[in-house]
Amino acid sequence: MIYLDYAAATPVSSKAMQAMEPYFTKEFFNPSSPYLPAKKVASDYATAKDTIGHCIGAKGSDIIITSGATEANNLAFTCLSYSQPHHTTKSTTPKPATSEQSTSPQSPQILYLETEHDSVRQLAKARHATPIKVLTSGLIDMQDLQSKITDNTELISISLVNNELGTIQPLAEVKEILREVKQDRMRRGIKRQLLLHSDASQAANLLDINAARLGIDLLTLNSAKVYGPKGIGALYVSHTVKLHPLIIGGGQEQGLRSGTENVAGVIGFATAIKEAKTHIKSSRTKYQALKQILLDELQGYELINRHHSIDNFLVICYNNIDAERLIFLLEAEGIYVATGAACAASKGQRSHVLAAIGLPDSKIAGSLRLSLGAGNDETEIRQAAHIINQVITGEQNRINSHH
Ligand code: PLP
Repeated sequence: MIYLDYAAATPVSSKAMQAMEPYFTKEFFNPSSPYLPAKKVASDYATAKDTIGHCIGAKGSDIIITSGATEANNLAFTCLSYSQPHHTTKSTTPKPATSEQSTSPQSPQILYLETEHDSVRQLAKARHATPIKVLTSGLIDMQDLQSKITDNTELISISLVNNELGTIQPLAEVKEILREVKQDRMRRGIKRQLLLHSDASQAANLLDINAARLGIDLLTLNSAKVYGPKGIGALYVSHTVKLHPLIIGGGQEQGLRSGTENVAGVIGFATAIKEAKTHIKSSRTKYQALKQILLDELQGYELINRHHSIDNFLVICYNNIDAERLIFLLEAEGIYVATGAACAASKGQRSHVLAAIGLPDSKIAGSLRLSLGAGNDETEIRQAAHIINQVITGEQNRINSHH
């Protein structure tokens, strides 16, 4: 098997597996229990959260553990003022988030990048949010962003790395724009908050993230994309932001996410993200080299994610070829690739991301996403390129023989 779909899922690293094991067996205690062994587990859990926090230049107390990036994104959106009429600090007496929202002129405006993952996009659409356009490069259209910010804008959601193209968004530039808007609001006595949320699910393996430096108030992390276990994620919450819980109960995670802590999962996540952070430089060098081999060896393709893309993503398009069919043919040869987001592809939907960068339907239909990861090496990548070329030639011959 040659797996080239690390953007969809990563295997759990052996370090993370080892670190997790005791918390399934010997150290099984509930962190809320009063006796000493449980307190040790609580302390290990807190340390793991500190580790996750440090990876993005934050503290453990800024981190809320969730069941994944989808939940973290949903929790981030509870910052909106219709669910927090008075306060500006973290909740101590949480009230449930409400999904109802009036569309009166006073209701908070949400902006989101049109290429967001569905866990932000569908959430945003359900709240009547306004999409921000991207350029054909996949980068945010800054002019469109600026023209859409109003005095009612409260939340702007822009992923750090796009999950279909790997495009890295220039959030430091967005920060500057927002700083000016905030200054202007202050001068005019407008009190509305203006928060930046970023889904960094696909970023943590290869980018050195510092949430505060990037001007991010709310940042989503995803264990399943950094060689940690699935079903774990985290939301970084800047201390100035007030959220409302989606899940109410025993008051864990500062009252923002009740339920007995998934200790083993969080230990695995912390171990994995720290490991990824330690190896950013060598991982980038490795993927740059492997990507170059693919670019050199593959034949007859058009490169889609040409610029500003994270090192392990390669999106290519073949003329007149059906990528869905290609995926099955490649699977038969032991190669696993994707057309776009795994969830969208499984529903047979056209990629909204490729459409947003202006790709015509015929090209969207012929597009493949190859995402590299820890298990890939040069031999494997050369072999993959060879097999892909063969399969493409076979398909082209088949199509030509029909004409
Ligand atoms: N956001 C992005 C950018 C992703 O790539 C994914 C992965 O599928 C998600 C959110 C959803 O993550 P999860 O399935 O852990 O909720």
